[in-house]
Amino acid sequence: MEPIRMVDLKGQYEKIDNQVQTALQEVLQSTAFINGPAVQRFQHHLENYLDVKHVIPCANGTDALQVALMGLGLQPGDEVITADFTFAATAEVIALLGLTPVLVDIDLKTFNIAVDAVARAITPKTKAIIPVHLFGQAAPMEALLQLAEEHKIFVVEDNAQGIGATYTFSDGRKQKTGTLGHVGTTSFFPSKNLGAYGDGGALFTNDDDLAHTLRGIVNHGMYQRYHHDVVGVNSRLDAMQAAILDVKLSYLDSYNEARKAAALQYNARLSGHQKIVTPFREGDCDSHVYHQYTLRLLDTDRDAVVKKMGEKNIPTGVYYPIPLHAQKAYKDPRYRPEDFPVTLQMTKEVISLPMHTELSTAQIDYICTHLMDAINS
Ligand SMILES: *Cc1c(COP(=O)(O)O)cnc(C)c1O
Repeated sequence: MEPIRMVDLKGQYEKIDNQVQTALQEVLQSTAFINGPAVQRFQHHLENYLDVKHVIPCANGTDALQVALMGLGLQPGDEVITADFTFAATAEVIALLGLTPVLVDIDLKTFNIAVDAVARAITPKTKAIIPVHLFGQAAPMEALLQLAEEHKIFVVEDNAQGIGATYTFSDGRKQKTGTLGHVGTTSFFPSKNLGAYGDGGALFTNDDDLAHTLRGIVNHGMYQRYHHDVVGVNSRLDAMQAAILDVKLSYLDSYNEARKAAALQYNARLSGHQKIVTPFREGDCDSHVYHQYTLRLLDTDRDAVVKKMGEKNIPTGVYYPIPLHAQKAYKDPRYRPEDFPVTLQMTKEVISLPMHTELSTAQIDYICTHLMDAINS
């Protein structure tokens, strides 16, 4: 059996190395290292894949979030609601722009932002909500979009963990996550479901005017050469990464299928266990692309389990061990622990198992056997 990795980029690369090398050679020979045809091609392929009018490539997923908020014209003092249980980048960009992050609790089943908590947090100063499709599972978009429309606020989807997921509305309509809100963002960090071999990110929108604004912001606020209409940033996807991503985009669905197949094998082995809660699934509407395979461990010493797994050479992850509202950088006297009961519980219970496109049945068996041993002992 191959050594078990949390993410296996090597095994995945070996299957596409010829294609990647060819794509890189083309970029090298073209010397169009910034923007240029490779970036354009990837942009158009991603627009087609997502069925969205505009993809705006940028340097990373954090920049994408920042540029999204800049493009919506939010002003210092405006409040932006997001989940307490997410990677820090989501709250970081809100604070960086002088906006006020308003962290809210999550749903126990999906780990995603709780609609009722969002509704309670809306004030006249609320200008945007940032749902995160956490671990690859779509946030409750239909209810959030409805709330946003009622209150005239923007929805920015942080789709860094959910690219390729399909959301199903109650009328059966289906749409890719990241394309449902006013603007969506993603990250091409190497371990993400569509990962580059370096940094990368993108924004998505169906709004022509907003797309125009965003394209200028990522390029120094420049809409006409050396005319700077707004204060922008320098955030570009380089051509090498775009060429790699273009190769990998053609495999994204099969990569997500491989993740799903691994998740189903985990579920089959683990779902009967009294102390294990496997990831929530929504029957035919299931939107999960398993960026992470995250379990809840009930009445269990999680740290002891992590240690025992480590002794068997099984890596595990805890995403996330500390709620954002309790982080030094984001502390605020407004936050009371009793406002975040679910997040606080999850930070103690969750454990993520190895999840990637190259997991074998033997590896999954080995992981499950030792997880159950570690919990029962
Ligand atoms: C990875 C990630 C980001 C940031 O992406 P970078 O490309 O690393 O800047 C933002 N939000 C979430 C939820 C992420 O998982």
